[in-house]
Amino acid sequence: MAKKKDTTTLYCSFCGRSDREVELMLPGMNGCICNDCAERAVELSREYLNKMSSSMLPDLDMDSLPKPEEIKAYLDQYVIGQETAKRYLSVAVYNHYKRLNQKRDDDIDIEKSNIIIVGPTGTGKTLLAKTIARMLKVPFAIVDATVLTEAGYVGEDIESLLTRLLAACDYNVAEAERGIVFIDEIDKIARKGDNPSITRDVSGEGVQQGLLKLLEGSVVNVPPQGGRKHPEQKMIAVDTKNILFICGGAFEGIERKIAQRLNTHVVGYGASNHVSRTDRDKLLHFVAPQDLRSYGLIPEIIGRLPILTNLEPLDRDALLRILTEPKNAIVRQYKKLLEMDGVELVIDDDVLTFVVDKSIEYKLGARGLRSLFETIMIDVMYQAPSLKEKRYVLTREFAERQLSKSNFDLLASNS
Ligand code: ADP
Repeated sequence: MAKKKDTTTLYCSFCGRSDREVELMLPGMNGCICNDCAERAVELSREYLNKMSSSMLPDLDMDSLPKPEEIKAYLDQYVIGQETAKRYLSVAVYNHYKRLNQKRDDDIDIEKSNIIIVGPTGTGKTLLAKTIARMLKVPFAIVDATVLTEAGYVGEDIESLLTRLLAACDYNVAEAERGIVFIDEIDKIARKGDNPSITRDVSGEGVQQGLLKLLEGSVVNVPPQGGRKHPEQKMIAVDTKNILFICGGAFEGIERKIAQRLNTHVVGYGASNHVSRTDRDKLLHFVAPQDLRSYGLIPEIIGRLPILTNLEPLDRDALLRILTEPKNAIVRQYKKLLEMDGVELVIDDDVLTFVVDKSIEYKLGARGLRSLFETIMIDVMYQAPSLKEKRYVLTREFAERQLSKSNFDLLASNS
């Protein structure tokens, strides 16, 4: 006969163990569940929901897919300038999703159109990738290539970049498998030095080799919690065949590689040396796969990133437009915030030119616009909601005063 259980001890209704045998016992209305069974229940329900939702993914069929012109028009609402990159991205993304719609028995195999964007920092690489993902309503993750290391080294395993993607869609594997991953600072894992046989940067090249597997499409075991701290975690298999990878990097100094290549070419064909006359910034227009190779990306990686485009440095005019034009421009955001307090914010034009000039002076680019503007606005945001006056006019004198009170001056003296 079974021993009668005592009434003060709690027993798990699923595995029958007592509260002394488990770490945590959660009591319910008519029974209890231990932490182990609760964890297993979460896993099972996640697997079940994944299976269910994969058959219910929102359509990305040809009729509902935005055409390249529509994708570009959407990007135009958020990203200023960068016309070439926007066109390349729009076509590449459209083709990517066309490929997803291809019939299985088609004998023409459309290859994946992973993208690499070369351009100075703060010119909109991440913004472009983020905006595309938002438009297509697919999961999106940003990963910094500098934290990735080969297995066995300190840092994150390469597979962990899919952990972020999974987390972005609540671990729905089917959703993640058609998402977009933006790998930032891809240039930082370049092999150091021009000559691969003499100067081998093992960790950089190892990471590139690891990435290759993901870029070309394979089933990867992903640690759901990332990192290596949880060796007991159950891996999730993710097929990267249909994940779109967009890589971005500043590739500082790549102009020299481009110039070298163009010079050789020009001299070789006896043409005039137009490169020396070309503005350094403009050289980026001519970036080609072989330049990425001389910069230190391995040919296999370059082969897996067939769409190569570049971003322009942002000039004064572009910075001015960034302040006011994008749908979520910083100026619009502040106007909205004050509007919610019933206050109309009027900004003199020369405040905007002042902010842009300071951002250029401090070499902060587009990223600096926000912090400069926030510094100027802090006192306004503090006082305006309590003001009787329902209209607030921001003048250049006020902006100058605010900035001189702040530590932006220190930045100026450092630069
Ligand atoms: P990176 O090229 O380094 O990835 P980001 O895309 O992160 O640069 O840009 C940083 C910030 O600067 C963005 O969040 C955005 O506010 C602003 N920004 C940069 N470039 C543009 C642009 N072309 N149009 C509008 N905003 C931009």
